[in-house]
Amino acid sequence: MEIIHTVAWMKQVAEEARRSDRILGLVPTMGALHEGHLSLVREAQKQCSPVVVSIFVNPKQFGPSEDFQKYPRAFEADRAALENLRVDYVFAPPPDEIYPPGFRTAVTVDGLGDTLEGRSRPGHFRGVTTVVLKLLEIVQPRFAFFGRKDAQQVRIIQQMSADLNLDATIVVCPIVREPDGLAMSSRNAYLKEGDRRAAGVLYRSLEAVRREVSTGERNATRLLASLRRVLDAEPAVSRDYAEIVDADTLEPVMALRKACYVLLAARVGNTRLIDNALIEQAGDSFTVTL
Ligand code: AMP
Repeated sequence: MEIIHTVAWMKQVAEEARRSDRILGLVPTMGALHEGHLSLVREAQKQCSPVVVSIFVNPKQFGPSEDFQKYPRAFEADRAALENLRVDYVFAPPPDEIYPPGFRTAVTVDGLGDTLEGRSRPGHFRGVTTVVLKLLEIVQPRFAFFGRKDAQQVRIIQQMSADLNLDATIVVCPIVREPDGLAMSSRNAYLKEGDRRAAGVLYRSLEAVRREVSTGERNATRLLASLRRVLDAEPAVSRDYAEIVDADTLEPVMALRKACYVLLAARVGNTRLIDNALIEQAGDSFTVTL
């Protein structure tokens, strides 16, 4: 496994791979890797060779009062985990390699990033799309792998990719969860014991929606009421938002339609967590995927 720190070297390695007709895959991450990230890597390895995993804690996607400084960094453990999976390349540039002095450009996808996470975290998606476009440009992979855990992010990246005619196919991978259902996240490391136990309620609130849908409920207001009953009963958890939105427009829906998401963000102690469920129509019924 080769560790690459510079853009120039990464470009050269990627260009050589493309020239020899190899199928390059990219898995962008901010490190502190867990099984969620590793599931993306395994999926990438099924479809691509070589696979590049980028590790870059992107300062531009953190607000001024957010956790950029204390975001978990675990390069040695990450390196060992990726070596173990026989990943070909790790791209781990220092911040000024991605944003050299004088850097001025930003990429914004209008509309989709203003609500939900974007409302709670102004500027977040602009930081995400800027760095993802840069990574896609540097590596120029055939496939790039993202987790459905960050459903709004994936939708925005797909829109950017379509609007800018990017060549990479965006592959969306399922959410990997802890045994109690909590979606794996690097930020779970912040949770103290009691908060960690309380955090399982996010999953249970999505399960409540799944149950209601399976008994025929289609009304978004009533489905959200079921979700809130479960979530708000946990005193250690404070809801930021819980909405059912169209999977394409991310606009709230009144009733279930072809594809939608239940999107959820909550604070557990000082830690902000997100989760979601995908609802899809299958004939006369709907399936809910957590
Ligand atoms: P991050 O390091 O948090 O920026 O995440 C890097 C990639 O891993 C993103 O595409 C995330 O959606 C994905 N990811 C994070 N957590 C999970 C999870 N629990 N299951 C699946 N993918 C995940």
